[in-house]
Amino acid sequence: MINCDIIVVGAGASGLAAAFAAAQRGQRVIVLERNDAPAKKLLATGNGRCNFSNRKAMFSAELVGFFSECLGIEAVEEDGRFYPRSFEAKTVADALVGGLEMAGAQIICGARVVSVSNNEMAYTVRTEDGRFFLSKAVILATGGKAGIQFGCYGDGYKLAEKLRHSVVKPVPALDALTCAEDLSQLHGVRVRAKAFLQRSQDGGAFEETASEEGEVQFTKTAVSGICVMDLSGKVRLAEGTAYRLVIDLFPEKKLSELEYSLSYRQRMFGVMLKGLVPEKLAQYIENRAEKDPAACAAMAKALTFTVTGTKGWKNAQVTCGGVPLSEVDGMFRSKASDELYIVGELLDYDGPCGGFNLNWAFHTGLTAGMFAVTEGL
Ligand SMILES: Cc1cc2nc3c(=O)[nH]c(=O)nc-3n(C[C@H](O)[C@H](O)[C@H](O)COP(=O)(O)OP(=O)(O)OC[C@H]3O[C@@H](n4cnc5c(N)ncnc54)[C@H](O)[C@@H]3O)c2cc1C
Repeated sequence: MINCDIIVVGAGASGLAAAFAAAQRGQRVIVLERNDAPAKKLLATGNGRCNFSNRKAMFSAELVGFFSECLGIEAVEEDGRFYPRSFEAKTVADALVGGLEMAGAQIICGARVVSVSNNEMAYTVRTEDGRFFLSKAVILATGGKAGIQFGCYGDGYKLAEKLRHSVVKPVPALDALTCAEDLSQLHGVRVRAKAFLQRSQDGGAFEETASEEGEVQFTKTAVSGICVMDLSGKVRLAEGTAYRLVIDLFPEKKLSELEYSLSYRQRMFGVMLKGLVPEKLAQYIENRAEKDPAACAAMAKALTFTVTGTKGWKNAQVTCGGVPLSEVDGMFRSKASDELYIVGELLDYDGPCGGFNLNWAFHTGLTAGMFAVTEGL
């Protein structure tokens, strides 16, 4: 049995931040991580560049300040997104791990936590290989289920439920959408557009659920790109519910304007969409519209795909669902169990692409780590 003040379960972005903050305040901290190394997912974020915050995210200025003052990481901003100046996620992972170890915290890898129980005195944390740890406080930082290849299998939901929390059903978000149509002809196409997610219930008319503008990308089996990924968390397929993705390739033009322009182009230059959108996409639409300008314009304004789901946990960047925010206070302290904190993606928060999710993980982790100061056992 190993004793300490605080056990952090999970050495991802939120767990490392929490351990760092708590250790800096003199707490004896142990971080238990199921993988053979800490920060595996963090290292893969932002294509290895770690887009850790966004100018529009809450407390982003404080986080950028913390990175600079406490970790020695200078941030650079690109279109409102913050990255470490090195553009390497390793900079962030190394600084956190080095910093918390310097402050006296210990990370134990290959330690999958399978049970967390408490009595009035302490928490007992058990790992899969039969080790026991005793602490005054526990910070659950296990992440959700997104990026399953990085060690996220949803363990935290079971641990939280045993500690009297509820869990909003987790679904993959920031993911590509799979479609019923054969997309092989469009494979590799990237185009700027406005994407609409529409939903129909019990065979009724389709109604708009959400829309986003940006780059749309096609693969053989799915439609992706940041704006489609931002819509993916809203898909809740269930019996009687159908979704479709409608892509407007000319959001700046009215249908009548586009129709006029395409028939003019056909008469004058012998082409319609070719030259306005990527060639594969022009051919795809023109073939289906049988070279009719009115039909081509209608399809280019509302290119419609039947959504069959998302690519799944391996492809998703974040989890929608988790422990409701109403079950923790402003310090991310559990309202159901004393001296328990829940942080990061395990909570029911998911942000859009652009640094909002790491910002959340770091913000919640640092806040909990700062407030989880205990008197020890
Ligand atoms: C490929 C990819 C790229 C991304 N890029 C960005 C980006 O650029 N910007 C951005 O804002 N967000 C990005 N995200 C999202 C972001 O990485 C997550 O929101 C963030 O890492 C969540 O932090 P977390 O600490 O809550 O969970 P995680 O980082 O998932 O960490 C949880 C840790 O807990 C461990 N664990 C789980 N169960 C147990 C257990 N039972 N016992 C012990 N340990 C356990 C896991 O192994 C893991 O190490 C990306 C996600 C992916 C998958």
